[in-house]
Amino acid sequence: MDAEAIKRSLVGSGLRCTPQRYTVMAFLMEQASHPTAAEIFAAVNRVDPRISRATTYNNLRDLVHAGLVREVAVEGRAARFDAKGVRHHHFICDRCGNVEDIDWYDVPKPASGSLGKRILRECELIFRGLCTKCAPRHASR
Ligand SMILES: [Zn+2]
Ligand SMILES: [Zn+2]
Repeated sequence: MDAEAIKRSLVGSGLRCTPQRYTVMAFLMEQASHPTAAEIFAAVNRVDPRISRATTYNNLRDLVHAGLVREVAVEGRAARFDAKGVRHHHFICDRCGNVEDIDWYDVPKPASGSLGKRILRECELIFRGLCTKCAPRHASR
C-alpha cells in the first residue's frame, strides 16, 4: 500500500495522520509476521529515534480502537499486532508461540439466545497446535 493510501485509511478511520502514527501503520502493513508492541517500537525507533515508547504504544492502541490494526492475544506471551486489511483466522503454535494467518472462511454465528444483550462484531477462529516447523520435531520424538 502506498503512502497516500495509508493516509486515507487513517483519516477515513477518524485518526489524524501524525508522522509517528504513519510510521507505526506503515511498518505494520509491511509485516507478514505478527510483531509484538516491543518489536514494533524497536522498528519505528530505528526509522525515527525521536519516537518514544509511550507514543508508539498510544498510537498502537488508537489504531486498534479504530479497527485498522488487530490485536491477537496469546496467553502467557505478549500480544501480537496485525494490520492486514483482509479478514483471516489465526493459528497459534503451542510450542514456539508463532502466530500464522489462515485464509478466511465464514464461521457459523452462535445462536442469538446465547449472546443475551451482547452485540456481536466479528466471529473469528484461533486454531492451536504445532506449526509446520514444530510438528516434524514433535513427530520424531
Ligand atoms: Zn511452532
Ligand atoms: Zn494475522
